Amino acid sequence: MSILFSETEKGKPVLIENGFDYIQERAHENKIYWRCTPCNKQKCKARLHTTNNTICYRVGDHNHAPNPSISGIRQCRSEIRDLCKTTITTHSIVAASIATASTAVLSQLPPINNLKRTICRRRAANLNFPANPRSISEIHINGSFALTKKKEQFLQPLFKPSSFLIDFESGAMKAINSCWPQSSVHACFFHLTQNIYRQVQKAGFTTKYGNDEEYAHAVRMLPALAFLETNDIYSAFEDIGNLQVDFEVATEG
Ligand SMILES: [Zn+2]
Repeated sequence: MSILFSETEKGKPVLIENGFDYIQERAHENKIYWRCTPCNKQKCKARLHTTNNTICYRVGDHNHAPNPSISGIRQCRSEIRDLCKTTITTHSIVAASIATASTAVLSQLPPINNLKRTICRRRAANLNFPANPRSISEIHINGSFALTKKKEQFLQPLFKPSSFLIDFESGAMKAINSCWPQSSVHACFFHLTQNIYRQVQKAGFTTKYGNDEEYAHAVRMLPALAFLETNDIYSAFEDIGNLQVDFEVATEG
């Protein structure tokens, strides 16, 4: 019976034999104690002892079926781990590691996007990225990144911008208002028109918008409110509502 050795994602030794994989529990002198990996979830009692990479003792029976793809899955994951240390693109790492995998292995791997996320996380860990800053004073932007092309100072951590231009993300608005209460927040006109049209679609008025000129014209007046003096907006909004246009009946589901 051949046994294979591999590693868990966290670098713990794994022993694979006949479709069962065991994780190293402890080592004493030249003896290593292994427990079946699903032992926590499925309460499997199977254990192995090895000396010099040879099984010398078995304890308990498995209470679950073996998985013949287990070594393929481990192999694939360890390839991904190794390739993470290179500069190969994330996409190529996934492609290379699944190229030789069997259909059975592929069907048991996490979805491609999850694999890609794991690769990015692992790479970030390999590169020893600094921890996320908890306050503005902890942000240190080094040399060249803090200069514009014209060598002017840029991205200074203790900046106090007079205004922000963002889309209509309410989370960003709240964050800006709390961090820079003195700054004014402007939202992007393009996103305003986009959001209004989304509401038209959501309310089931897409066909009406495409066929009823008066209706479409009235809807387009809504973003135009952005060009009025603040004091005039409410009354102008009411004027739009009072137009002889049928805003109410949705013509589609
Ligand atoms: Zn087991």
